[in-house]
Amino acid sequence: MSRFLVCLLILIMTSTAHSKPVKSTVILLSIDGFAYDYLTKFKPKHILNFGKSGVKAKLLSVYPSKTFPNHLSIITGVYPAKHGIIHNRFYHPGLKEKYSLGAGKNNSLWLTAKPFWSFAEENNILSAVYFWPESEAIGKNKQASFNIAYNRTDSEKARFDQIINWLKLPTSQAPHFIASYFSSVDAMGHKFGPNSVELKNAVADIDKLFGYFISRLKKEITFDVNIILVSDHGMMQINESSKVDLAKVFNEQLTQWISDNSIVVAQSSTQLFLYLDDSKLSKDQKNSIFKSLIKQKKENQSLYSVYRKNQYPEHWQLNKDLAIIPDIIIEIAPNGYFNNTKTSITSAATHGYDVINQPALTAIFLASGPDIIKGRKLNAFENIHIVPLMSQLLGLPQRQDIDGKRSVLQPIIKTNCITSK
Ligand code: AMP
Ligand code: ZN
Ligand code: ZN
Repeated sequence: MSRFLVCLLILIMTSTAHSKPVKSTVILLSIDGFAYDYLTKFKPKHILNFGKSGVKAKLLSVYPSKTFPNHLSIITGVYPAKHGIIHNRFYHPGLKEKYSLGAGKNNSLWLTAKPFWSFAEENNILSAVYFWPESEAIGKNKQASFNIAYNRTDSEKARFDQIINWLKLPTSQAPHFIASYFSSVDAMGHKFGPNSVELKNAVADIDKLFGYFISRLKKEITFDVNIILVSDHGMMQINESSKVDLAKVFNEQLTQWISDNSIVVAQSSTQLFLYLDDSKLSKDQKNSIFKSLIKQKKENQSLYSVYRKNQYPEHWQLNKDLAIIPDIIIEIAPNGYFNNTKTSITSAATHGYDVINQPALTAIFLASGPDIIKGRKLNAFENIHIVPLMSQLLGLPQRQDIDGKRSVLQPIIKTNCITSK
């Protein structure tokens, strides 16, 4: 019998055995702020063993290396300008509203791309999410059938236990795509720095829980599960002498325009996004703003760079004509940070910088399961390519409207019967 006929036969047999085209279950886990170099520095036993049973690779964050833009790129397969969440905090001049972490649950306009759980649900695959940035977003995209609203009190163990409970539901009720998010490593990284004992302990704790989860899976779950373990970015120790007080970035005139909202500033530790109000500022005034920012920059030892809209570095993927894209981005050079004397947040470390030439910001990608080729080597790749992998593992059609490419992770999938999934 020809190879084609064998494949066809297997396909018919599997599709009659299950009512939906699910080959296996996919679990996507994200450990916020888990740098790739933690794998060698802290040697987390269970995570490393998991990698050895499948694939381990360097994962590159999209710009900026903050939590929300990156988790949304992981789950939508598109760059931030396309999914709409271009930073943890930014502004929409049309809405006259500032976005901040999770605001999509109140306004359907923020999130402009389809999360993978919605895509799975549309294709009759039940999904479950135990925390993920924007999992509660409202709008035309369907939420996961099982969706636990973000809170800071549920323990990390409770999340792993709940995933096991979901998997144990009768097949017709069980989710076949599950996503969950863990933030303790990021929190300890910020507070105590990437070389601290506190961070080392946080990595050991999540590793132990992950080991517990894998052993429960092996003992209690009899069907095939493919697991993808990722992070969104790494972490960099802040250099105190490279910090810049916000007050020193803006001269008197600019401070005045900020206070009357002619200029809106969305600020974070690593970027200042500036939005200039056309109705209040003339073209000449807008040019003078840019010039005075450059002048101030020189007075601040050029610890940061100033960029104008449509002239952003290409790989930021921000040269789009969208209202949410700022008119000016002020980008701190690693390992500095923008210090706001009003809020005076004290962090030992941060992330958000451009990842180019910054290995400490590299994130992790590990995958293992019945459909993953053990030991396949992969070059570092951007996180937008995870969606096509998950589509293929679940037997879903490949989406043409995303930036992620199926070819990037295709090499890690077992191809004993390649179909046109
Ligand atoms: P950063 O690591 O600086 O980018 O900030 C991430 C922040 O996002 C952390 O304080 C998390 O607690 C918070 N966070 C993570 N997931 C969610 C969520 N689903 N809703 C609201 N906040 C979240
Ligand atoms: Zn993060
Ligand atoms: Zn963080």
